Amino acid sequence: MIELPEAYVLSEQINQTLVGKTVMNVTANAHPHAFAWYTGNPNTYHEKLYGKKIISSNPGTGYTCGGNVEILCDDMLMVISTPIKYHTSSEKLPAKHQLLIEFEDGSYMSCTVQMWGAMFCFPVGEDGLPDNYVCNRCPDPLTEAFNKDYFDTLWNNTKQSLSAKAFLATEQRIPGLGNGVLHDILWNANIHPKRKLQTFNDNEKEKLYHSIKSTLLAMRIQGGRDTERDLFGNKGGYKTALSSNTFKYSCPSCGNDIIREAYLGGNIYYCPACQPFERGR
Ligand SMILES: [Zn+2]
Repeated sequence: MIELPEAYVLSEQINQTLVGKTVMNVTANAHPHAFAWYTGNPNTYHEKLYGKKIISSNPGTGYTCGGNVEILCDDMLMVISTPIKYHTSSEKLPAKHQLLIEFEDGSYMSCTVQMWGAMFCFPVGEDGLPDNYVCNRCPDPLTEAFNKDYFDTLWNNTKQSLSAKAFLATEQRIPGLGNGVLHDILWNANIHPKRKLQTFNDNEKEKLYHSIKSTLLAMRIQGGRDTERDLFGNKGGYKTALSSNTFKYSCPSCGNDIIREAYLGGNIYYCPACQPFERGR
C-alpha cells in the first residue's frame, strides 16, 4: 500500500510521463498474491484497457479518496494503492508483478503488491468499487478543505479514550494517513503515539493539527519519504526522522534512543523524551 505523500508524487509523475500513451497489452495477476485485489476477473483487464489512452492521474481526489492513485484511461478508471513503476523499453521488468501494462511505444508500467494492494479497473462514472472496500470520500490533509474546523469535527466525533495513533491511522478516518507517515507527524507534534485524546490540552491539539498538514506537505514536496520509491525507482528526498531506516540511530532532536514497539497493527517509533507519555510539558 502507499500513503498520501507518495500518492501525490506518483500521480504527478504519471501526469508528466504516462499521459498520452496508448495501452497495447495488459497482464494482471501473473504472480498471484493473497492480498492483491482486483475488480472482477483480472483476465478481463486486457480487454478493458486495450487501445485506450492515459488521460490523467490524481492522488485519489477525483472519484475515490486520498492515498490511492487514480489513472483515467479514456473511459476506464484505474484505482491503485500499490507502488507503481515505470520502465522504458530497454529497462528490466520486475521479476514479480500483479499488474503489468505495456504501451505502444514499448515502455511499461508495473504494480507490485507490498503487504496488500488494490488494482481496480472499472468504467468511469460507475460506482465500481467493491462493496467491502472502505473508501471514505472526505478531504485529505493536503487539500484546503481539511482545515481546523474539519479537524475539530473529526476530533469531536471520535471516542476520547482512543490513542493518538488510533485516531490518526485507523478506520481510514484520514485518507492516506497510515502507519508510515504517522511517526514523523507525532514526533513533530511532540505527541506519544499511545496518548489518549482526552489527555490533550488545546495547545497540543492545535500542534497536532498543524503537524499533520506541515509534515505531509514536506513529504510531498520533497518527492516522498526516503523509505519509499517513486515511479522511476528512486527513493524520496524526505528524510524520515523516525522509521525503520533511522531506528538504529538516535533521535535527531535530542539524541535519545528511539523506541520501536508493536502497537495496533504495525510498529510504532517514538522518542520517549520528545514525546512523553504524560501530559505535555
Ligand atoms: Zn528526542
